Amino acid sequence: MKKLIIANWKMNPPTLKKAKELFSATTNYKLQAKNAEIVIVPPFIYLSELLKIKNSPKQSTLATGQIKLKIGAQNIFWATEGAYTGEISPKMLKDLYVDYAIIGHSERRKYAAETDEMINKKVIAALKESLKVILCVGEPLEIRKKGKKAAMNFVKNQLQKDLKGLKGKLLNNKLIIAYEPIWAIGTGISATPETALETIKYIKKLLITNYQLLTPRVLYGGSVDSKNIKGFLQHNEIDGALVGGASLNAKEFKKIVELTNKIN
Ligand code: PEP
Repeated sequence: MKKLIIANWKMNPPTLKKAKELFSATTNYKLQAKNAEIVIVPPFIYLSELLKIKNSPKQSTLATGQIKLKIGAQNIFWATEGAYTGEISPKMLKDLYVDYAIIGHSERRKYAAETDEMINKKVIAALKESLKVILCVGEPLEIRKKGKKAAMNFVKNQLQKDLKGLKGKLLNNKLIIAYEPIWAIGTGISATPETALETIKYIKKLLITNYQLLTPRVLYGGSVDSKNIKGFLQHNEIDGALVGGASLNAKEFKKIVELTNKIN
């Protein structure tokens, strides 16, 4: 299966002009890729304009060679429409041809006080609209310090709540998990490939046994860059990476994609 590289731009860049420039610089080169699928996840307000660029005839011939390029959203709300000031529904995103939604990112859990119960509603709503879900899970530093068993239990508990009521057909080929230890996000200190690997193997085991997923896809996220990407992706079990900071530098992101492309 192709490795999935997701560029989470977070609340960047600060203007539409810069967003268009970053998008073009990030996607506007030819790469005969066999092994990578890219998802760019900009702020909501840039989605329409970037989709226009992505779908323009000029861009689609230039854009990606054989790389699959998709667009995602950083969040969704669980209702379809109604009196929910400031929210965006999965149906609205689907209408724009957005394919993916990140749900449960630790920054939303922290700054927007998102609970596992809210995240569960969002996952269900996204799947109902056939959006592919990138569900983020991962432990804080104080839990990791207690050891790997504590970290794994933390993640298991998140999955239990976030995926409540879901299994099998409802999730197959629609759910992607991003294992993102909170202490590694935006810190410049990534997990070691060994730590990422053992946690991802554990998550996959859970997804197969408890959620009847046939081919679970689990990514690593947390201070990924062009220097460390190979260490993670050379393992078959790590299906890709969620890239934050490094995705804001088009040259760096291109290197990440190129290195991914070389991994068999
Ligand atoms: C993220 O946004 O999910 C992330 C992993 O960020 P960074 O790569 O900057 O650590």
